[in-house]
Amino acid sequence: MRLGVAAALVDGTLLPGDVAIDDGVVTALGVGAGGGHGIAAPGFVDLQVNGFAGVDFQVADGDAYLRAGEALLATGVTAFQPTFITAPEVDLATALRAMPVEGCGPRIIGAHLEGPFLSPRRLGAHDAAGCRAPDLALLRRLLDAGPVTEMTLAPELHGAFELIDELVARGVTVSCGHSDATAAEAHLAFDRGARTVTHLFNAMRPSAPRDPGIAMAALARNDVTVQVIVDGHHLAGETVLVAWQAARGRFALVSDAVGAAGMEDGRYALGGAEVTAQGGVVRRADGTLAGSAVPMIEAVRHLHALGAKLEEALTAASAVPARIAGRQDLGRLAVGAPADVVVLDDRLDVQRTLVAGGEHVAR
Ligand code: ZN
Repeated sequence: MRLGVAAALVDGTLLPGDVAIDDGVVTALGVGAGGGHGIAAPGFVDLQVNGFAGVDFQVADGDAYLRAGEALLATGVTAFQPTFITAPEVDLATALRAMPVEGCGPRIIGAHLEGPFLSPRRLGAHDAAGCRAPDLALLRRLLDAGPVTEMTLAPELHGAFELIDELVARGVTVSCGHSDATAAEAHLAFDRGARTVTHLFNAMRPSAPRDPGIAMAALARNDVTVQVIVDGHHLAGETVLVAWQAARGRFALVSDAVGAAGMEDGRYALGGAEVTAQGGVVRRADGTLAGSAVPMIEAVRHLHALGAKLEEALTAASAVPARIAGRQDLGRLAVGAPADVVVLDDRLDVQRTLVAGGEHVAR
């Protein structure tokens, strides 16, 4: 099968020509020249998705995952991490057990546990009652309840390094976030094996000239990849651009989408609690931002509109997050790689999404 595209994003460069797919795998790139329409990019890899299309993954059943998965495909996402925020152990274990391993449309990489080992000072929309001090036994029970591939924790908490060691030993990505860590505390965590941060700048110690905090520490280190929400609401454009320029090639877009994504304004659930979407901005009743309503393709458009080259913005939505997840097989178009592809037109609208060569046509 040929996609009929004019070019494809290969290793960060637009290669003219079509893409050939056979048996779920890319078999040729740069085929022929001219005549095609649109570009093929690696399918988007979203590391932080709380919900989508009215679905709150924390309390979702198989049918709900299917509905959300279908809507995620329509926005170009071919792999994602359902993300469960701070909650009592029994609720997190139930959510982990209910998470399907496959068959909901996009690939499910594994769960992203955002909490419960977070700083009480930087909770954002998380529920303080579910927040816990680092507890290795609890961590082990959670990891045993279902496939976890990323955990967000506050590394400055007493006992957090034991958790980092356990997560690294079990191959789980350690992401620092909802954290009041100073730069010095952050460096210790990065040296210990944490290699990324969750929604850079948001729910982090604010940066000051002589107290740069974890956000600046992450930007200053070439071995740390930053995950960033670029929805036009969580960060000012200048903040995004400074981070983009500081962290070229190690800047990953995440949606942090909640059930309001892909839907009208209204009331939705996040981790079982009510949130309200108004004008595309999602907040708790107290006004705290509570995830976003913006899908990955819109984050790509935002980043591109701010001045990022399209090729690099698309890479920030695919290869970079795949690398954070340790999934070098995903997020790239290469001969022999799985045919997880999004086809975009000149306006960056999603025309088709394929997972392992299987088709989803935009409605
Ligand atoms: Zn968060």
